[in-house]
Amino acid sequence: MVLFPECKPSAGLVGIARMAAEADLLEAKRRVEYRELESKSLVSRVSNPWMPFRWTINPYRGCEFGCKYCYARYTHEFMELRDTDQFETLIFAKHFDAAAFRRELARIPREDKIAIGTATDPYQPAERRYGVTRQILEALTTERGRAFSIISKSDLIARDADVFTEIARYNTMHVMQTITTVDTALARILEPSAPRPELRVESVRRLASAGLGVVVMNSPVLPLINDSRQSLAAVASAVRQAGASYFTAQTLFLKECARKAFFPMLEAKFPHLVRKYRERYGTGSGYLKGAYPEMIAERVRSVREEFGLTRKLQDAPPDVWIAEVDQLSLFG
Ligand code: SF4
Repeated sequence: MVLFPECKPSAGLVGIARMAAEADLLEAKRRVEYRELESKSLVSRVSNPWMPFRWTINPYRGCEFGCKYCYARYTHEFMELRDTDQFETLIFAKHFDAAAFRRELARIPREDKIAIGTATDPYQPAERRYGVTRQILEALTTERGRAFSIISKSDLIARDADVFTEIARYNTMHVMQTITTVDTALARILEPSAPRPELRVESVRRLASAGLGVVVMNSPVLPLINDSRQSLAAVASAVRQAGASYFTAQTLFLKECARKAFFPMLEAKFPHLVRKYRERYGTGSGYLKGAYPEMIAERVRSVREEFGLTRKLQDAPPDVWIAEVDQLSLFG
């Protein structure tokens, strides 16, 4: 499927939207189209002071995994791509220039934390083809005294255990694997094209056996869907047996751009929850506050305790991936 047929010239578009419209076609498979994107910079400054990192690196734009709750969908809107499906079906691989990347890094204060994969999955299928994430990581092996983190829902992350180990010789390198549930059928509904939970548990095992401290993010916790103690404990138990030491989870943040994908899924698969979600997440910031997230935090704490897991790695723990500020009402 060609989503941008004859899209050049891109009359009327400016900046990143123009670069996206003019991007060279790399490859198109049955559902997904890949393009190469020139980027002025690979490293972006984070303006939100609540985030536990100051800079982000996103090797791709868009994400084929297509999680129904994904808050990164807005990044395609910067390119005037407002059809919510395009975030999953039109993937941009950023052009990597090692020399330019090193010049960018040289301008970043050494104490500033840098997170990889905050608005895309760095190990989505495109990575097998274009290897942008691997190239970035290899460039990071020459860095000294920095704090990096990387997060993924893909078991492909374990491929890079060697390079994480090399980076970690001279820097802090936190490797994070997201596992929302161990229920394969539920994962397929919530994260239709992401690797199955058991593959992710296996990747935790491979990373841990390479000597890396692996943080497992059981996020997002979706009210009345995967928020039971039993569900959290099942993930904690599986990853503990796989060798993980760190476990954390945050309540669902449903940004406006994600609602367009989330509510149709809810109506189809969880119609009995639609009214409650519309009341709590239908408008506003997309955060919950009050008793519900407090209850989840306590539940997560007790699960950690039961399975001998801890909350965060030493040094630069990105234990709050999304700051839970200005949250709205709660689920009873
Ligand atoms: S893996 Fe992450 S970036 Fe990709 S769709 Fe899911 S939540 Fe979004």
